[in-house]
Amino acid sequence: MIDIKSMYIEELEQFIVSIGEKKFHAIQLYKWMHQKLVPSFSECSDLSKNLKQKLSEQCRMITLEPVKVLKSIIDGTEKYLFRLHDNNLIESVLMRYHHGNSVCISSQVGCKMGCRFCASTIDGCVRNLSASEMLDQIYRIQQLSGERVDNIVVMGSGEPLDNYDNLIRFLKLINSEYGLHISARNITVSTCGLVPEIYQLAKEQLQITLAISLHAPNDCLRRTMMPIANKYSVKEIIKACHYYIKETNRRITFEYSLVKGVNDTRVCADELVRLLSGINCHVNLIPVNPIKENDYKQSDKKAVEAFKKQLENGKINATIRRELGRDIDGSCGQLRRSYIGQ
Ligand code: SAH
Repeated sequence: MIDIKSMYIEELEQFIVSIGEKKFHAIQLYKWMHQKLVPSFSECSDLSKNLKQKLSEQCRMITLEPVKVLKSIIDGTEKYLFRLHDNNLIESVLMRYHHGNSVCISSQVGCKMGCRFCASTIDGCVRNLSASEMLDQIYRIQQLSGERVDNIVVMGSGEPLDNYDNLIRFLKLINSEYGLHISARNITVSTCGLVPEIYQLAKEQLQITLAISLHAPNDCLRRTMMPIANKYSVKEIIKACHYYIKETNRRITFEYSLVKGVNDTRVCADELVRLLSGINCHVNLIPVNPIKENDYKQSDKKAVEAFKKQLENGKINATIRRELGRDIDGSCGQLRRSYIGQ
């Protein structure tokens, strides 16, 4: 079955012509899928019965099925658990900020990166998500909530740069003027630091924000938290970031999840200042969200504040990420795991 929602408009035009239909139907169909966000061909009311018949014989319009929606009573954050057509489950989050609605999407079913603090990776990576499966997380949330999605963060389960081609396709489709037309500047892609793909991404010349999950200022400590640190050094990552900034003129975000007594010390903050000094960047501090599968504890509020202050004294921009959805298994992969009962 053809995954028609993952096609660029030009590809859709070629396909429509190849099945003996007029080219202009492609744009009608594209708008039904990507602007009106319909879940099936049957709802495309200005397409002929004959065309709809042909489409449903040859193509699948990927539409995710919501199986659970949780709403935080603390801050209104909503967590969605979706079933894919092969019965795999993924999760996405809608966060409401003053500056608009952000949706955090997954890029893979599970993840193979093995970060010690992360629930998504515990059972490894099952498969990549298609571009349509990434898109439809946003489409369903916009439909179900009745609210417009303004910003997207690719920070849910999975390593987006490990699913590179589908990620790029997703980014171009969501940016399309015949779709939701979300500007690249409103999209953040977060990576644990796959160096060759950071260079590749820089060359795509997209205006997205790149977020690097750094979590430690040196290789030795980073290796205890993230297996990927055995493959790429902090030095290589920083070099790739310089290249990214040079190519795109975009500021980089570094994510730093604070773990009590592990990476939240004065020494770590000093080292981080030295590492990032002179780079056009911003540090996002996230008190680690404890999961039951490891013994990491969240840094104390005071330690988090002190860490931030130290960065600022060193002229590094830093914010403490507001913890959203704490009462609804807010962090990566936690809801899916609790649903499948492990
Ligand atoms: N694979 C990508 C994107 C997914 S994770 C990446 O590594 O960046 C999104 C962010 O949440 C990453 O910075 C990740 O390290 C962080 N994260 C995952 N689990 C967490 C937890 N339990 N507490 C705090 N941050 C966590």
